[in-house]
Amino acid sequence: MDYDVIIVGGGPAGLAFARSLAGTGLEAILVERQPYAALADPSYDGREIALTHGSRAILERLGAWQGIPKDRVSPLRAARVRNGRSAFALDFEPGPAGEALGWLVPNHLIRRALFEQVAEQSELRLACGSSVVSARTERRFAEVQLSTGETVRGRLLVAADSRFSPLREALGIEAEVNRLGRAMLVCRAAHPKPHDQVATEWFGHDQTIALLPLNGGMSSVVLTLPEREIERLAKLCDTALGVELTRRSAGLLGPLEVASSRHVYPLATTWAKHFGARRTTLIGDAAVGMHPVTAHGFNLGLSGQGLLAAEIGKALRQGRDPGEDSVIRAYERGHRAVARPLWLGTNLLVTLYTDERPVARITRHAGLRLGARLPLFRSGVRSILMAR
Ligand SMILES: Cc1cc2nc3c(=O)[nH]c(=O)nc-3n(C[C@H](O)[C@H](O)[C@H](O)COP(=O)(O)OP(=O)(O)OC[C@H]3O[C@@H](n4cnc5c(N)ncnc54)[C@H](O)[C@@H]3O)c2cc1C
Repeated sequence: MDYDVIIVGGGPAGLAFARSLAGTGLEAILVERQPYAALADPSYDGREIALTHGSRAILERLGAWQGIPKDRVSPLRAARVRNGRSAFALDFEPGPAGEALGWLVPNHLIRRALFEQVAEQSELRLACGSSVVSARTERRFAEVQLSTGETVRGRLLVAADSRFSPLREALGIEAEVNRLGRAMLVCRAAHPKPHDQVATEWFGHDQTIALLPLNGGMSSVVLTLPEREIERLAKLCDTALGVELTRRSAGLLGPLEVASSRHVYPLATTWAKHFGARRTTLIGDAAVGMHPVTAHGFNLGLSGQGLLAAEIGKALRQGRDPGEDSVIRAYERGHRAVARPLWLGTNLLVTLYTDERPVARITRHAGLRLGARLPLFRSGVRSILMAR
């Protein structure tokens, strides 16, 4: 056996999992197709990740939170959900002790901080600039062939290679993949009116726009529209895009001035039918690729990798094989129990809020008003919307 664990994918889920193995004594390899320099210093990609309290605690334990510059961590005090032209809004206030709902942190800085932690980790080999071209599993081992020509064997193979996971496909693990025909355009914008650290998620007719409050009089604008429309907007100059975003946000924060590069993400969601198979587990988006509107993907990936690491730790303490079936099944059971309600709740919310038929409009309008008075509904939506 070359390694105990083979991790494929050096995104946040793969990096966090590699870090979680530190100190276990397991020999691991992390295979990532991007070059070392791109992992060590990732570029800004437009994503501002809304981190929950639980995710912050995990990042602290992994030593990554400490590596994120404090002035780039924007506290999220409250969130507001608006529906079409209705003046009514559903508000989510801070907790009883006035603590933040969560924190917005640029994705590339989280990745950089995680990478700093794994870069010097003994018992971990970083195989950057190489990807997996084929994979197979046997009763006692998993084997992958890399684009460099090298073949590696391990006791457990972990797929963390995105929602389109080529590894999941190569191993024949079925997944529900939904291409939604819509895309998100994200960028930062400066504005004159204060956001008061309140995030707005506005489900308008034919569009969804989120304004996420950042430090320094800025917000991250996340606009969702049909793909063609997003393609058109992405080609506008900064001034014209600013005018368009101001119009689409109805001037809530005053005139928006584009203050970063813009990034486009075509929307697709995925749900793997199994999170594990012989000698294999799926983590992060490879297991569940959530719709970003409820800001769960990263948070879920982080908790899932923690669960897998905990099951492996338990097996090691009992002298068991970390790649054996019972470890994989325990992880799969635990992670599915957490992910399934979020997956279903998010999909329901997306369907309801993107359906423009009159009956759906009436339902969501009535739903928001009724829901505002029902504590159970409020806490349900709050947990579905997470920090946003
Ligand atoms: C606009 C936007 C906003 C978001 N906001 C939030 C938010 O607020 N909160 C939240 O929780 N989530 C959010 N998400 C979701 C979050 O970004 C993802 O859930 C998270 O990045 C998934 O991490 P991952 O490591 O599983 O996969 P990825 O980040 O996709 O990383 C996969 C890695 O695998 C590598 N790879 C792929 N194939 C191979 C191969 N064959 N061999 C080797 N390497 C390979 C890739 O190069 C990549 O580095 C958002 C997403 C978007 C698009």
